[in-house]
Amino acid sequence: MQDIQTKERLRKNLDQIIWNIEQARITISEHHIVQLVAVGKYSDEENIKTLYEVGQRAFGENQVQQLETRMTNLEELPLQWHMMGHLQSNKINKLIELRPTLFQSLDSLKLATSLNEKLAQKEQKMSCLLQINAANEESKSGVKSEEAFDIYQQIQETCPQLKLKGVMSIGAHVEDEKIIQQSFEETHKIYESLKKDGAKICSMGMSNDYELAIKCGSNLVRIGSKIFK
Ligand SMILES: *Cc1c(COP(=O)(O)O)cnc(C)c1O
Repeated sequence: MQDIQTKERLRKNLDQIIWNIEQARITISEHHIVQLVAVGKYSDEENIKTLYEVGQRAFGENQVQQLETRMTNLEELPLQWHMMGHLQSNKINKLIELRPTLFQSLDSLKLATSLNEKLAQKEQKMSCLLQINAANEESKSGVKSEEAFDIYQQIQETCPQLKLKGVMSIGAHVEDEKIIQQSFEETHKIYESLKKDGAKICSMGMSNDYELAIKCGSNLVRIGSKIFK
């Protein structure tokens, strides 16, 4: 059992974030709806359960192994599960078995091709976002901004088992807010250009930059530390 203080703290954190999201999204439009995915990687199952009890339904993990453990242990709860970390090719089958709600980190044409092939063998489909390395950082995975549009089309043409729903990006890892904003604007521009191809989700924004991301057009934020701290 979890102590009352922990529960109370998590509830307050969540309320605060929901309030901040609300303030940011209405600067765009009343009709601009933003989904919150709580990223549990720094936390534990008890805390995820507590968040469920106060209304949170979508959760994300960045490792297939951890995703599997949590999905199994929290099986009785009607949760949405998002995968958002680099997928090694030896973990593809495991991810397919888990049937995540959304695989947010499809980060190369090569991965798309192997994932598509394995999904076809199992007659399964998977909803995905194309990850864009908009900040052009060595340490990050994702396709280059200049190539994102073409790769998106290519995946749609050659990978029928993948249901591409939009794009995902991690903001530039710098102090200068202008540069972070540029990386979000760049991703959003690509997202806009892909709307005619059915893109519906623009996933950008984490604990330190979600309000800025929303103001740049994000409609899905992935927040870990600010919720679970
Ligand atoms: C960990 C992680 C997050 C959440 O990070 P915080 O800064 O703790 O909010 C979001 N997206 C991805 C891809 C992550 O790996």
